[in-house]
Amino acid sequence: VTYTRPRLFNRLRGIREFLKVRTSYDVLPLSFRLVVLDNDLLIKKSLNILIQNGIVSAPLWDTRNSSFAGLLTSTDYINVIQYYCQYPDEIGNIDQFRLSSLRDIEKAIGVEPLETVSVHPMRPLYEACRRMLKTRARRIPLIDNDDETGREMVVSVITQYRILKFIAVNNEKYTMLLKKPLRELGLGTYTDLATATMNSSVLDVIHLMVKYNISAIPILDQDNKLLNVFEAVDVIPCIKGGAYDELSSPVGDALSRRSDDFAGIYTCSEDDRLDAIFDTIRKSRVHRLIVVDDDNHLRGIISLSDILKYVLLYGEEDDTV
Ligand code: ADP
Repeated sequence: VTYTRPRLFNRLRGIREFLKVRTSYDVLPLSFRLVVLDNDLLIKKSLNILIQNGIVSAPLWDTRNSSFAGLLTSTDYINVIQYYCQYPDEIGNIDQFRLSSLRDIEKAIGVEPLETVSVHPMRPLYEACRRMLKTRARRIPLIDNDDETGREMVVSVITQYRILKFIAVNNEKYTMLLKKPLRELGLGTYTDLATATMNSSVLDVIHLMVKYNISAIPILDQDNKLLNVFEAVDVIPCIKGGAYDELSSPVGDALSRRSDDFAGIYTCSEDDRLDAIFDTIRKSRVHRLIVVDDDNHLRGIISLSDILKYVLLYGEEDDTV
C-alpha cells in the first residue's frame, strides 16, 4: 500500500478542523490551581515560589492597576543572568530587583521585549496555536474580562504540551494513522545543532540557548553520544540561592542537582513514526524529543513547536507561521 500525500493531508486536516471547533477553555481540566505572582514581588522570592509549587512559569499581576502584567518564564531568569554577566558589579542590587524590574532588565541588556500575547478562553483553540507559532511563545495566558467589574481576569495558561496532549487524547482516530517515519517527514532540526559537554559551564550553555534562541542544549560525550539535556527551566534552581558566581561551574554539577520529580529525557529514532510520537505525548510529559541512532549518537531534535507547526501547517498553501 502506498501512503499518498492526500491521505496524510486529510488526517492532518481532521486535526485542524478539531482545533477550530474547540476552544482554549476545553483544554483546561475540570479543576486546577493557578499561581499568580504580584509584580511587586522580589525576583529572588519568585524563584522559591516557583520551586515550592513545582512550576516553571506564572502570570504576573499588577495590583495597582488591577491588570495582567505578562507571563514570568525561564527566559526572564536568563535575562537576569545576562544582566549579571554584563554588569557583575551590580550583584548587590540584583537581589533587590522586583518582577516589575524585568522590563528594565530587558532594556539594559538590549533584548527585544517579548510580545505579551494572550487569548480569550472561548476563542477557537486553533487561534491560540497560530498565535503561539507566530510569536514563538511556548505558553499562552488565557485572559477574560470579569462581567461585574469589566476588569481583566487571568483564567489559566496553556502550554504547547497541553495542546498537543489534548490533540493526542481526542484524535486517536487520526493520529494512529500518521504512520510516516520521521526520516521521511523531515520533522525537527538535524543540522547545525547546538550542543555542549559535561565540562561546559552553565553560563556557556545559557549563552548558547540565547544565541540560537532555543530552550534546550543536548549534552554529549566525546563520541557525540547523548548524556543529558540542559533545559532553559534548569536555570531556575541554579540561581535560587542568589549564587550567580556558581554559574561558571560545570553544567554536569547543575544537572546532578535536578529534583527527583524530573520528568526525564525522551529520545526517539529517525525510524519512529509520528503515531508513536503522539503515543508518547499522550502518556508522558515530554518537552522535546532527542533523535538518536542505535548507538545513542545525537542525530537531531524535535521540539514541541516543530510538531505543532507540522500539525497546523503542513501541506497548507500558505504555510508561513
Ligand atoms: P520550543 O519552542 O518548543 O521550546 P525550541 O525553542 O527549543 O523549542 O526550538 C526551536 C527550534 O530550534 C525548533 O525548530 C528546534 O528543532 C530547534 N532546536 C531546538 N534545540 C536545538 C539545538 N540544541 N540546536 C539546534 N536547533 C535546535
